[in-house]
Amino acid sequence: MTTALLRRSLIRTQVDFDRTGVQYGCLEVPYSQNRSAYGYIPIPIAVFNYGDGPSLLLTGGNHGDEYEGPVALTKLMHWLPGQRLRGRLIIIPALNLPAVLACSRSSPIDGGNLNRLFPGKRDGSVTEMIAHYVESELFPLVDGAIDIHAGGSSFDHLPTLLTAPPPAARAQSDYERLVRAFAAPNALALDMLGEDRTYCAAATRAGIWFLGGEFGGGARCDPDCLAIVESGLRRVLHELGVTPEDTPPAAVHESKRFVVQGRGHYLHTREPGVFEPVFHLGDEVAQGQLAGRLHFPQAPWRAPIELRFEKEGRVMCARTFARVEAGDCLAMLASQAS
Ligand SMILES: [Zn+2]
Repeated sequence: MTTALLRRSLIRTQVDFDRTGVQYGCLEVPYSQNRSAYGYIPIPIAVFNYGDGPSLLLTGGNHGDEYEGPVALTKLMHWLPGQRLRGRLIIIPALNLPAVLACSRSSPIDGGNLNRLFPGKRDGSVTEMIAHYVESELFPLVDGAIDIHAGGSSFDHLPTLLTAPPPAARAQSDYERLVRAFAAPNALALDMLGEDRTYCAAATRAGIWFLGGEFGGGARCDPDCLAIVESGLRRVLHELGVTPEDTPPAAVHESKRFVVQGRGHYLHTREPGVFEPVFHLGDEVAQGQLAGRLHFPQAPWRAPIELRFEKEGRVMCARTFARVEAGDCLAMLASQAS
């Protein structure tokens, strides 16, 4: 057996990515456990392959408690068969299916946070194997990838497209067309701060373009955010020529552009307690402005601690849970880009 064969993913699928037409199937992630010694976890996948044209990967459920992506992609799967299509779409609405079913950011099987596990491991845990499959088997098949997120259980997030403009100048105008086509109310350029374990970082390593996004939060499926994702995907597919005869919903937003400027844009607590915010999601706040008070349910006679914003900016996401532990993030700000 050659080294190349040894390195191939252990995840199997009956789907043939090169076959023309529509296929539904599963990624079979080997999972040997007490109640199923030779079993696997079936992660649903759809492939729409209509020859010449762009090849794209669309994913949701990277984090399990973020439902706008899985619902939008499921609805897209039902809508696409009525369209004339070009190119190839690979759609996985619930990439970390065990986490999606458990309404949990991380996998209930191995505790894995998929979006911090790239490039994954061929012979690792279930979640590591999923990451490895995406990076080593799926990314080489596509020109670009869209991964839809939301704030998860612990955050509410303004509907925001996350962008990672390609380094090559000649690719930037094409990328910008896609950002404009998606037309989310907000667009935030990712600053990875050296983080290389994410889906976005893996896509960048693979040399493909990436669009992500945070659309809602609180483990809900927000109808307004869902509509933004659904219509944004329709416009991007049309812009790319995948659905040439579609008349997608007109864009109603011209994206406001934001950047996160370092740690000062994050509000953390250094002590445990109960946080009483005095701001709302979407507020413009000033440097030094009161953000809220930390209360101590086990010592209510203790004076509350005031927490202040270190920098000015717009509140892009805010914590949902009032109960906090030391080190928890309470909010993230961003500055409007010039
Ligand atoms: Zn997420």
